[in-house]
Amino acid sequence: MVWKWERGLLPVNMDRETLIAKVKAAGVVGAGGAGFPTHVKLEGEVDTVIVNGAECEPLLAVDVGLLESQAEILVVALGQLVKILEAKAGVIAIKAKHQTAIINLQKAIAGRASLSLKLLRDVYPVGDEQVLIYEVLRRTVPEGGIPLHIRCVVVNVETLLNIAAACADQPVVTTYVTITGEVRQPLTLGAPVGTPMVSLLDLAQGTTISDYQVIEGGPMTGKLLPGEAVKTGKATVKKTTKGLIVLSENHWLTRQASLGLGSILQRAQSACCQCRLCTDLCPRHLLGHNINPHLVLNAVNHGQVNNPEAYTQSFLCSDCGVCELYACPAGLSPRRMYQAIKAELTIHGQKNPHRKLAVPRAFWAGRQIPASKLISRLGLAKYNQAAPLTKVAFSPRQVVVPLKQHIGVPAIPKVQVGDMVKVGQVIASPPQDVLGALVHASIAGRVREIDKEAIIIAGE
Ligand code: SF4
Ligand code: SF4
Repeated sequence: MVWKWERGLLPVNMDRETLIAKVKAAGVVGAGGAGFPTHVKLEGEVDTVIVNGAECEPLLAVDVGLLESQAEILVVALGQLVKILEAKAGVIAIKAKHQTAIINLQKAIAGRASLSLKLLRDVYPVGDEQVLIYEVLRRTVPEGGIPLHIRCVVVNVETLLNIAAACADQPVVTTYVTITGEVRQPLTLGAPVGTPMVSLLDLAQGTTISDYQVIEGGPMTGKLLPGEAVKTGKATVKKTTKGLIVLSENHWLTRQASLGLGSILQRAQSACCQCRLCTDLCPRHLLGHNINPHLVLNAVNHGQVNNPEAYTQSFLCSDCGVCELYACPAGLSPRRMYQAIKAELTIHGQKNPHRKLAVPRAFWAGRQIPASKLISRLGLAKYNQAAPLTKVAFSPRQVVVPLKQHIGVPAIPKVQVGDMVKVGQVIASPPQDVLGALVHASIAGRVREIDKEAIIIAGE
């Protein structure tokens, strides 16, 4: 189907200050990642804007759906963003396998000298911001750095559309989500932020099994939600939710994600043979960062206290999941170990001490993971099917809009129970001068409940 984008475009003559103010007022955050507030990214001096359409997480189809159906508006928006940021070039990065989207983008890009496409291999994790920058520009982000350090900004496809809409004063009230796995009709759709996930499973014609759990996000980096939280309507979609993958409770991925830290430690002590495959395939190690996941297991297993680097390298982990879900023959998890250590170090005020410039290692290109091998290793081959972007007219009876859908502090409610709200009205905002993002009502209705995590709106 032809999907018509009904929202705004960046005005040609907008200055950077106005752009940043509008993006901030619209509550735009990185739609494809952890939800970094986008207005902050637009403050730096850059020479290149990269649109991240790599979508390297298996089974997800949001980016490709939007790139296919919104090629023209994305190209226009990128051209204007490049101009407003006074950058030299804009690049849309997309996997070479997405031929329909590429044809549409090529048509839209023709004659625009500052814009180009970068065609990517079908490998994981080519959508990791730092891996993508190296693919596109052959520049490496220093250890613990961000793209702005090398004069580059990366925005996700949906984020670019949200930037364009923000310029027409339309806030982020919709999120695009792929619903797949054990559902009857996999699909991708736009849903009001705060929609109960169970309503979206219904729109996919329901689940094919009753004892299920849901991975929110992609299978490599997503978060496992208990089936109960989904079935009771407690789990709702955020601005950053890109996938709902329904899997059996017995699926390897759900069992792996359910392991507690105690089991992870116990397994590591009994099975880590220091083969270092986790390090050899770690994407950040391959980019040249001083991260060696096999060493953290060695240090923990032997209670080493004279090797602080083994622990502080946790600050360099991107949480990509390669070590745990692909590399380690025993299914051990340096990733979870790093997460736990990083949390502990942060509580004690430790900051990342690793700041070296990075030089990619010789085997960098050869050690990317083919998507087809990854899908089969994850036991997802039977779910690797089309989930087309589909326009579905529905309005949830109620939304639970989280106060924290972004990096930074949670937003503070600006409405009270009983208030009537309109779509797009600000309902919560972060404290002044603190990193965060505004939150808007995604449906019209009455505020039914407010707690420390969310605002519940009952539809009119
Ligand atoms: S999750 Fe594992 S493979 Fe990925 S960056 Fe962290 S240590 Fe490396
Ligand atoms: S791949 Fe597994 S067994 Fe080998 S060093 Fe890493 S954690 Fe240990």
